[in-house]
Amino acid sequence: MTPLAQPRLFRNGRLFDGKCFLDNCDLRSDANGLIAEMGQDLSRQSGEQILDLEGRLLLPGLVDCHVHFREPGLVRKEGYLTGSTGALHGGVTTVLEIQNNPPLMENADLLKEKMKNLCGVSRIDFAPYGSLTLNSMDNLDGMLGLVPAVKCFLGGSTGSGGVPNLDVMRQLFSAAKKAGHKVVAHCEDDALMRKALEEATPETAERHDLMRSREAETKSIRDAISVAEETGVQLHVFHISTGEGAKCVVEAAERGLPITGTTGPHYLLVEAEEAAQASQNRFKVNPSIKYAEDRETLISILEKSLLQGVGTDHAPHPLEDKDRPYRKSPSGFPCIDLLLPLMFAVHDRFGLSLERALASVTRDPALEFCLAQKGRLAVGADADFVICDPQKKTTVDETSLPSKSKWSPYNGWELRAFPEQVYLRGQLVFEGGEPIGDPCGRPLFL
Ligand SMILES: [Zn+2]
Repeated sequence: MTPLAQPRLFRNGRLFDGKCFLDNCDLRSDANGLIAEMGQDLSRQSGEQILDLEGRLLLPGLVDCHVHFREPGLVRKEGYLTGSTGALHGGVTTVLEIQNNPPLMENADLLKEKMKNLCGVSRIDFAPYGSLTLNSMDNLDGMLGLVPAVKCFLGGSTGSGGVPNLDVMRQLFSAAKKAGHKVVAHCEDDALMRKALEEATPETAERHDLMRSREAETKSIRDAISVAEETGVQLHVFHISTGEGAKCVVEAAERGLPITGTTGPHYLLVEAEEAAQASQNRFKVNPSIKYAEDRETLISILEKSLLQGVGTDHAPHPLEDKDRPYRKSPSGFPCIDLLLPLMFAVHDRFGLSLERALASVTRDPALEFCLAQKGRLAVGADADFVICDPQKKTTVDETSLPSKSKWSPYNGWELRAFPEQVYLRGQLVFEGGEPIGDPCGRPLFL
C-alpha cells in the first residue's frame, strides 16, 4: 500500500518539465504521489499545503541510468542506503543499477531477492539491470519484465563478466534478441588494451588515456554495432568517452538501427591531462577520460539530442583502495552526490544549453528505458521533484557527501544549484543536506 502523500501546491517557481522551462507555472501534487495539475494561478484546495518557491527552480527528480551500488556482495564499498542518500544529494530519485560484483544478476530469482531485500533500504526508486553472460543466457526469458535491459561488459573493467571474443558476443546478443531484451554495454577492446600495456614505456605506463585508448573504445563500439546489426538486437552503449564513438552510434541510428548511447559527466568536464595530474588516481575511470576535441563532439551531439543522455557511472571505492599506485588502484569514483550541480557546470563551462543539460538527466534516460512515470513534469507522472536555487554557489567538501566513500575527484570545485529539497512520489525525502524519514524507495519492475 502506498502511504498517502501530503497534497501540495507549489507556487511562484520556475519549472523545467524535462524539455523546456515554464515560467510562472504552478504545480499541484496529490495524495497518491502524482502530479495532479500544472498551470497558471492555481487556487488552493482544501487540505493542501502551499509552498512558495520564491522564483527557485523546480525540476523532475533526476534519472541516473548507470550506477554501481554494490549491494549485495560489496557493501564495504557502497550500499543502497548510503548510495541512495548520495543520490538525493545530487537530485536523483531514480537509478538504474548495475551489479558488477558477485553475485551477478544472472536469473530471475536473484533479481527478485535483491529487489525485495532493498525495500526499506533504498531512499529512491530503483531498477537493477540483468547480467548478460554465458551463465545467464538460458535464464533471459524469466528476466523479461523484471529489468530495464541486460548488461554486457565488452573488455575488462573493475567488474566481472567480460566477453572474450566476437563469437561469444554473437551468442550473447542473439540470446538477448530472442528473449526480447535491450543490451546495454561497456565498450572497450581487450586486445588493444593488452597491446598498449605490453608496449608501455616509463613515460606512458601511468597514462590511463594511453593504456585505455580512444581506439580501444571506438573499435569495440564498431564491433558491438556490427554484431547488433547482424543479430537485430537493440544496443545501448554506455558512458561514451570519445567523439568518434558517439559518431558511430549516431550514424548507426541514422541508418535505422536500434542503436543508442549515453555519456558521463566527467567526459564533458575533464580532460586527460587534468585527470593524469589529479592526486591519487582520483579520475582513473573506465573508459578513460579523453581530450578537448572529444568533449566538444560529445557536447555538440548532446545539444542535438542525438545521444540519450548522461549517467554518472557512480563507482565508489574506499580511499585506501584508490590511493594504491596507479596499476593497483581500482577504476571508478563516486559521482552521484553531485549530478545536478555537475550538469549546471557542463552548461556554465562548455556551453551545453541548460535545457539539454537537464533533459540529459531527466527526460532522455527515462524515455530511453521506458520509465513513463519518471523524468518529466506532467499530469499523471510521479511527483518526483528537485527544488534548487540555481544562483547559489557551493564549494564541494568531499567529507560532507552522503555516499559511502567520503572522497570526490571534484573536491574543492565551486558548483551551483545543489538540491535544497527533493520529493519522491509526493513525499519530502531530502531537505537541507539531510535525508528525511524512513527509506521509501521502490523497485520499478517488481
Ligand atoms: Zn559502470
